[in-house]
Amino acid sequence: MRGGVKNQLTGKEYEVKSKVVINATGVFTDRILGMDNPDHESLISPSQGIHLVVDKEFLPGDTAIMIPKTDDGRVLFAVPWHNKIVLGTTDTPVEEVTEEPIPLKEEIEFILTHIGRYLTKDPQHSDIRSMFAGLRPLVKGKSKVTAALSRDHLITISESDMITVTGGKWTTYRKMAEDTVNLVAEKLQSQITCVTHELKIAVLRPVPASIEGLTDEQITTLVKQTANHEMCMTVEDFLSRRTRQLLLDARVALQKSPLVAAALADVLNKDQAWIQTQINNFKNIATHYLPH
Ligand SMILES: Cc1cc2nc3c(=O)[nH]c(=O)nc-3n(C[C@H](O)[C@H](O)[C@H](O)COP(=O)(O)OP(=O)(O)OC[C@H]3O[C@@H](n4cnc5c(N)ncnc54)[C@H](O)[C@@H]3O)c2cc1C
Repeated sequence: MRGGVKNQLTGKEYEVKSKVVINATGVFTDRILGMDNPDHESLISPSQGIHLVVDKEFLPGDTAIMIPKTDDGRVLFAVPWHNKIVLGTTDTPVEEVTEEPIPLKEEIEFILTHIGRYLTKDPQHSDIRSMFAGLRPLVKGKSKVTAALSRDHLITISESDMITVTGGKWTTYRKMAEDTVNLVAEKLQSQITCVTHELKIAVLRPVPASIEGLTDEQITTLVKQTANHEMCMTVEDFLSRRTRQLLLDARVALQKSPLVAAALADVLNKDQAWIQTQINNFKNIATHYLPH
């Protein structure tokens, strides 16, 4: 098969030839199936879930709380995470799949209203340090309520032989990979089988999750380390994935973004225009993580 890929950092496009194409694009599964066959049957029922992050004082200690059934039958939790508390989650069916889903007002209200009675005090909007939404790629079923849909994964093969794997969970990713790789091996009549069960999960060099409390000099050193040794390429990379500052406190992340951009530019040899674009791009993303 022939296809094209685009480097999102440079804009450069490449032609790729391969014996097998695997579509493992989560909530975007149907979009790729549509490129393969515009008349394809849609597989995914997207379900939005959100998380709110508040300060540790709302749930002191190391223990998480799980509320298996709220008044309207939903699951709620409060989990200590890097000296903050993550509150969640929701299960909202959505029609449209977007790259940066935004928490809905009703979802924020639902969590704030219900979780208060299990914490040391009622969290208010102004207590939200960061909030974020994700879309679960649930496989379509008969139920109209996404919470009742299966979380098992599904593998399909299209008429053009594209393999699609979708619908699983983080916790089942190795099983998803194993089933897919073994299917590919079978199609290619190869003796090779997946070795995931023999591989240890890599323990990476610890980068602090939060940059709060670090001096500008310490942050600059950290940015340069991740750029030199972990291929950190953008401000978002550093503040959202190498550290988790955007998820822990979006305001702090925004404040420090010019410093991060300047340090990255130093290592990556970029100019002032690049720094400004990076700051603007990050601002556009981070605004959604602030309470609205
Ligand atoms: C709020 C929330 C809470 C959750 N909690 C849990 C939990 O506690 N435990 C659990 O096990 N699971 C949980 N999940 C579910 C879990 O996140 C998903 O089921 C899992 O990430 C699905 O894995 P995937 O590899 O199929 O898709 P994804 O993880 O979505 O990966 C798909 C990848 O494909 C990329 N992609 C898409 N289109 C293209 C394209 N055209 N070209 C190149 N790349 C592309 C995307 O950028 C993405 O990196 C949660 C989900 C949400 C939203």
